[in-house]
Amino acid sequence: MKNVIITGASRGIGYAIAEVFKLNGWYVIGTATHKNSTNENKYVDQWIYADFNIDSDLDYLCQEIGNLSDLDACVNNAGINIIKRQNLVSKDDYSLMNKINLRSPYFISAKAAKKMSEYNGGKIVNLSSIWSVVTKEHRTLYSTFKTGLLGLTRSMSIEWANQNILVNAISPGFVNTELTQKSLSSEQQQDMAKKVPLGRFAEPSEIAKAVLFLCSEKNTYITGQNIVIDGGFTIR
Ligand code: NAP
Repeated sequence: MKNVIITGASRGIGYAIAEVFKLNGWYVIGTATHKNSTNENKYVDQWIYADFNIDSDLDYLCQEIGNLSDLDACVNNAGINIIKRQNLVSKDDYSLMNKINLRSPYFISAKAAKKMSEYNGGKIVNLSSIWSVVTKEHRTLYSTFKTGLLGLTRSMSIEWANQNILVNAISPGFVNTELTQKSLSSEQQQDMAKKVPLGRFAEPSEIAKAVLFLCSEKNTYITGQNIVIDGGFTIR
């Protein structure tokens, strides 16, 4: 049975990714910050609790990845958003966003790739965002680190290519999750939906199935890419 580690598998897109992998026969290892938040996700076989803002938690997660007998796929999904004017962003905001959205995926991916290289290779998918390819006001922090994730994706795809490790990013547009509800008022959500050519936000499952494809044996030659899934939003 193939196994996958999915960060942030307790809610939103991560929940849907765990569901689609489990329903397709994978063994699913999920991460969350605390035990309480994970009660609902029945699609996760094994939990690892780690708050990426705490260094010892990240070290523990990397150690657990090192202890796995093998690893077929790693999905760096956990992420947060802080929406602020640039001149109100504190060093603490910057550091928090870095730790969760870029620094942790960097070290988790390094550990995952090392583990995959001991067997037949594997797949890594990083959840970036449309705000890595376009941007708007109050998104300096989010755009900075989501764009950084593309740098990680591209550079890792080269660094690990000779070990048969394929590394890609997926950049969702607006998806119906808690993160979106916290980031946009319901009025803003309605306005934004009108700006999406397909006329609606994505459901988490519509992102999850693309992640599964990139991690599956059907993907033999896509690496170093950023797949934008946004209902056409960034094309306008
Ligand atoms: P979400 O519903 O807010 O869920 C966030 C996940 O990240 C949860 O599982 C959460 O775990 C985990 N997480 C939060 N803080 C963490 C921390 N300090 N340490 C470790 N894990 C932490 O988010 P989502 O909307 O599903 O987004 C998933 C990914 O897609 C993110 O990377 C996001 O940037 C990206 N994305 C989302 C959208 C969108 O419209 N929703 C669009 C583009 C990109 P707990 O439950 O334990 O807190």
